[in-house]
Amino acid sequence: MRRYLHIPLFVLVMLGTAWGQTTGTPGKSRAGTPRPPNFIVIFADDLGYGDLGCYGHPTIRTPHLDRMAREGMRFTQFYVAAPVCTPSRAALLTGRLPIRNGMCGKRAVLFPNSAGGLPESEITIAKALKAKQYATACIGKWHLGHLPAYSPNRHGFDFYFGIPYSNDMIQAKNASYPPMPLLRNTTVLETEPDQRQLTRRYTQEAVAFIRKNRDQPFFLYYPNNFPHIPLFASADYQGKSARGLYGDVVTELDWSVGQILQTVKELGIDENTLVIFTSDNGPWLPQKEEGGSAGLLFEGKGSTYEGGMRVPAIARWPGVIQPGQVTNAIATTMDLLPTLLTLAGVPLPKDRQLDGVDQSPVLRGEKPGVQDKVFYYNGRELYAIRKGAWKMHLTTRPSYSKEPPVNHDPPLLFQLENDPSEKYNVAAGHANIIADLMGEVERHRAGIAPVPSQLEAVISEK
Ligand code: MG
Repeated sequence: MRRYLHIPLFVLVMLGTAWGQTTGTPGKSRAGTPRPPNFIVIFADDLGYGDLGCYGHPTIRTPHLDRMAREGMRFTQFYVAAPVCTPSRAALLTGRLPIRNGMCGKRAVLFPNSAGGLPESEITIAKALKAKQYATACIGKWHLGHLPAYSPNRHGFDFYFGIPYSNDMIQAKNASYPPMPLLRNTTVLETEPDQRQLTRRYTQEAVAFIRKNRDQPFFLYYPNNFPHIPLFASADYQGKSARGLYGDVVTELDWSVGQILQTVKELGIDENTLVIFTSDNGPWLPQKEEGGSAGLLFEGKGSTYEGGMRVPAIARWPGVIQPGQVTNAIATTMDLLPTLLTLAGVPLPKDRQLDGVDQSPVLRGEKPGVQDKVFYYNGRELYAIRKGAWKMHLTTRPSYSKEPPVNHDPPLLFQLENDPSEKYNVAAGHANIIADLMGEVERHRAGIAPVPSQLEAVISEK
């Protein structure tokens, strides 16, 4: 203790100056100069709100994600922009509702015979971060167009490794694309990869990318194909979970997250790396025991009820996000683009409408929330809106039902903070709330200029 009393004053002044220089931009390069933070976004496929230990699942073990939540911030009201894969992914990467860039339509998602994809005019997180020389990689399921014109390499990613669409989209061997391509950039490495090894291989690629880029800012987007069906786990996990194969798959995904967090820690870049984990849509309920659970939320994938679009979300950034936070802040995947760009010091695009907002004040604990609205789209149709505690459904449709959608006049109204399961329609007696929400809907619709859907065109078959 006594020793410290003899530190010369000028050393203390210099330390103070260095601290002041880095407080606004956490982390330093090895050379000691402040540098923008690294970002890792891990995106599960069809993982429900109730499928993690830290979200209350009684038998699925997720020790790494649970620890990530204890060390960081867990969101209880975090949403995706669409209840199915393709539009949800487009929204995360562009910060925009799919209705603005054509990534929604009558066909719910892209298929192996689709001719469209995310237009090159869109600005993804990866493309925008190139302004600060970020190294960028996408490892896993792309699902924003599998033709070379729409590949991750055309959207700001230096590197891609993965399956370009869902892991159940195994097409006939005589079709224009291999049955289940595993790509490295645009090269087909394998035509029928062993899906039991997929999470392991994605993890290896992700860890290698982080190690390679430890000395420069990087953005790793890691959309794992699971727990979308068909379910596969490696020998280390298969048959181990009390929740059956679905639990095996989620626990292996949890292992993968643990490997990534461990790597970041080992490399000493923990305090300069924001890691976010979330899911692209709710559980695929018609798959029964092979699908997940939305916990106390009603419905699942394909539905604009909460179970389809409210998902688990955990953010970890030691030194910036205080440990053990649970936030009720309303946030969406579309907030990632403005949040990450702001943290990196990259100006937001001004020539287009963004639907996300910068959530960094919430992450830093400076504000309890920064936005109060959520728009729930089914394809190109606005089905519901949330403002504050209130959610109004204009149209509903049971997911994966052949029944036509039902329009509600008067609309259904739920008070989500009292009734997250959307059981009690309280429209009667709340005409003022409905009028306010209808005004929000009108203003929103007036600001939408629909563009042609990218999801309808198909490759001409010979
Ligand atoms: Mg999905």
